[in-house]
Amino acid sequence: MALTFKKGIHLNEHKNTSGCHTVRIAAPEFLYIPMRQHIGAPVTCIVKEKDTVTRGQTIGTADKALGADVHSPVSGTVERIEYLADASGTRIQTVVIKNDGMMTPCPDLAGYEEIYGKSISEITAQELSHIVRKAGITGMGGASFPTHVKISSAAGRVSDIIINCAECEPYITADHRLMTEAPEKIVKGLEIIASALSLSGGTIAVEDNKRDAVKLLSEAAGQTPGIKVAVLRTKYPQGDERQLIRAVTGRRLPAGKLPADVGCVIFNAATCAAICDAVTLGTPLTERIVTVDGDCVENPGNFIVPIGTPIRVLAEHCGIKKEKTVKKIISGGPMMGTAQYNADYPVVKGTSALLFMSCEDDRPDSLPSLCIRCGRCVNACPMNLMPLYLALYSKAEDYDNVIRYGVTSCIECGCCTYVCPGNVPIVQYIRIAKPRASAILKARSSQEGK
Ligand code: SF4
Ligand code: SF4
Repeated sequence: MALTFKKGIHLNEHKNTSGCHTVRIAAPEFLYIPMRQHIGAPVTCIVKEKDTVTRGQTIGTADKALGADVHSPVSGTVERIEYLADASGTRIQTVVIKNDGMMTPCPDLAGYEEIYGKSISEITAQELSHIVRKAGITGMGGASFPTHVKISSAAGRVSDIIINCAECEPYITADHRLMTEAPEKIVKGLEIIASALSLSGGTIAVEDNKRDAVKLLSEAAGQTPGIKVAVLRTKYPQGDERQLIRAVTGRRLPAGKLPADVGCVIFNAATCAAICDAVTLGTPLTERIVTVDGDCVENPGNFIVPIGTPIRVLAEHCGIKKEKTVKKIISGGPMMGTAQYNADYPVVKGTSALLFMSCEDDRPDSLPSLCIRCGRCVNACPMNLMPLYLALYSKAEDYDNVIRYGVTSCIECGCCTYVCPGNVPIVQYIRIAKPRASAILKARSSQEGK
C-alpha cells in the first residue's frame, strides 16, 4: 500500500512533460553567475575582470559555514563583475562570463578514488562533506540549503536516509526524468551517502504517479542490499520534509526541530545524483535539469541547462504562443515557486522549473475576499494549524495571536489558500506576518537570555 501523511490536498497534476526526454541546451554567449544561490552568506568571488576561466573552475569560495563554492559552467572570459538583483530583489555580486564555445574542462577536477587513493566505500562523512562543499552542491529541490551542512550534522545522529523523489508540485517533471534516465546515479549517490554515514542503506521515496520511475529505480537498486524504494500516495505537499518523514518512518517531526532530531536526513533526487557525480568524477554543480512549461509555452520540455543561463534564453528556445500573453514567470512550482520580476534572471542551482503562465484561469483580483468559516483550510493544513485565524490576525498585524496560532510552524505550502472558497489570500498574509513574528520571538528569547 502506498505510504502517505494526514491532510494535504489532491491537485491537478499538469505533468505534461513527464514523457519529454531531457535535451541539452547550448550554453549562451553570456552567463550570469550569482555569488549567492543558496541559503546563507554569499561566497567570495576569486576571479577578476578579463580572467580566463575553464569549465568547472571555482570562481567563488565559501568562507562561512553556510555556503557552497560556485563554479564556471563554461570556459571563457570574465566579462564583468557587477551587482544584479536576484528574484528576491536583493542585489547580489554576479560574475558575467563570456562563453568561448570551447567547453575546455578545468584540469583540477578528479574523483574521490584518484584524490584520496582509496575505494569510495571507505569514504568518511568529513571527506564527503568537504567534497560536496567544494563541488558547490546545495539542495536542488528549491530550498538550496548547503548540502555539506546536512551531511556534517547527520553524522552519528541519523538512522534513516531518505531520497526525496516525491516531486509533488504540479508541472515539474525534472526529477522524474532524472529517475527514469539515470536511476543508477540516484542509487549510487545514496550508496555513497550511506557509506559516509556508516549506514547500510536508505529509502528512495517516489510518488505513485511515477510508476515507470519506481520500476527503474527498483531495478537499479536490485543488487544493493539495504536500499529500498518506497511508494508514496500522490498528494500535495508530500515532498515537504515533515510529511515525507511521517509517511516513510511514521515519526512526527515537532515544530522547530530538524529531521536529524528524529534520526532522519533527506536529500532531493537531483542533489543525490550531483553527489554521485562529484564523488565519482569530481564534477562540480554547473548545470541542472529544468522543466519549462505553462500554458504560454509552445514546446514544453525538460532541458539540461548551464547555471547562469538567462530565463529569456529558455523562453526563446521553447517558444511562446503568439495568442498568449505571459503574465507571470514562476521559478519552481505554482504552489511554492517564486514569481520572477523579469526574464533576465539566470537559472540557479535551485531552479527546478520555469513556468510561463497567462493566468487566464486565475481567480480575478477584483473578487471580494470573505471568510465564511467553512473550515476547509483547517482540514487541508498538513501542519494542523488554523489558517483562517492566522490570516485574520496577520491581516490585523496582531503578532501575539499570530504567534499563539503557530505561524512559525507554517510551511507555506498554500493548501489553505488553494481550497478557500472565500478567496482569502491566507498564505500571502502569513508570508507577510511570518518574518515579523520570527523577529519578535528572537528578540524575546534574547531578552530572556540576558
Ligand atoms: S477556507 Fe477560507 S472561507 Fe473557509 S474557513 Fe478557511 S479562510 Fe474561511
Ligand atoms: S497554514 Fe501554512 S502549513 Fe497550513 S495549509 Fe496554510 S500554508 Fe500550508
